[in-house]
Amino acid sequence: MRTLFRNARIYTHRDMGAPLRGDEHSAFTVYDPGAFVVREGIIEWIGPDTAGGGIDDDPDTIVDLGGRCVVPGFVDPHTHLCFAATRENEFQMRLAGADYMQIHREGGGIMSSVRSLRAATRETLLKRTLMGLKRSLSFGVTTVEIKTGYGLTTEAELRQLEVIAQAAKQVPQDVVPTFLGAHSIPEEFRDRRDHFVDLVVEEMLPAAADAGIARYCDVFTEEGVFTVAESERILTRARELGMELKAHVDEIVNLGGAAMAARMKCVSAEHLIAADDDGLSEMAEAGTIAVVLPGTSFSIRKPFARARRMIELGVPLALATDCNPGSCYTESIPFIVTLAVMQMGVPLEAALAAVTINAAYAIGMAESTGTLEGGKQADFIVLEGESPAIIPYHAGVNPVEEVYKKGVRLI
Ligand SMILES: [Zn+2]
Repeated sequence: MRTLFRNARIYTHRDMGAPLRGDEHSAFTVYDPGAFVVREGIIEWIGPDTAGGGIDDDPDTIVDLGGRCVVPGFVDPHTHLCFAATRENEFQMRLAGADYMQIHREGGGIMSSVRSLRAATRETLLKRTLMGLKRSLSFGVTTVEIKTGYGLTTEAELRQLEVIAQAAKQVPQDVVPTFLGAHSIPEEFRDRRDHFVDLVVEEMLPAAADAGIARYCDVFTEEGVFTVAESERILTRARELGMELKAHVDEIVNLGGAAMAARMKCVSAEHLIAADDDGLSEMAEAGTIAVVLPGTSFSIRKPFARARRMIELGVPLALATDCNPGSCYTESIPFIVTLAVMQMGVPLEAALAAVTINAAYAIGMAESTGTLEGGKQADFIVLEGESPAIIPYHAGVNPVEEVYKKGVRLI
């Protein structure tokens, strides 16, 4: 069964076999008009929609896309979509002037999500997670990462991993689970933080590895959360157990987290608002992808990460929602692209690379998705309008008209 999709303005990056860097971020391939053939969910051919241009003249089905814009399905490489309850009250406290880390220190923040998750049934948690994934899909996200980190006991972290795995089976997206047992020091360990790090290293990580669900281990390296030394200990153990590594670093305070992520050969380092040039250069050297989260800066009213500088220094850039009930509650990748372009000065083409191919590399999915090329899954979206510029141009509105995963239309 071969389907020919034709009469589209196709914008895609090329997969160069590694995350895109520097000027590669802005190198779009455009087919206008373009066409592609999908067989068994895989792109068999893509090229110009012209006679003699290699177009299949005998497909089983033809879909005319009406001259609209087609881009690869979005990849959201950093979310905390598996949570039990929202936190509007804290948002209002922040509006009234409270500081995010101050709320965190006073037992709100992540700990408030921990309390609600521990008390929630599996069903409630699954229902919420599925709701988030459904909304994410409506914004064109066809591949998504979800972290644990609201359990912070071995039992609750495993429960969260299992719910993520269960949700993954019920949705059309590809879901990549990440273990983030070191997301915060839970209140019961406040006066004996070393014991919590011991628990993560000696009990949680081996249990998570045994469960075989999480591909990555992440850690929150930040003042008042985990130190660089604690983070290295946790990540080292995770690597021994066969996981790949990520780290939340230099979000509020520069602790040298970017350099730590590079040293630990993390696949990606996230946030990086306070990262300096030295740390970023070390990431460039190590090939560590920067996963930048402008929605979080927006939501907690902090500066934006220096994404343009990252590109200049040779760091591969990815962007993500960070969707979570505290510091950034949005599933919308178009909103993230809008912030990157309008508030961070990231070129539109680079922002697109950052939510497709580089995002796919950040969660180990580049072999199957992230660009529209022969051999990859036919994960694509149809946007209103003529070009991806519609995203920041038609700001605050969902520009995604149709969503396809493996060639199947879902929206
Ligand atoms: Zn996060």
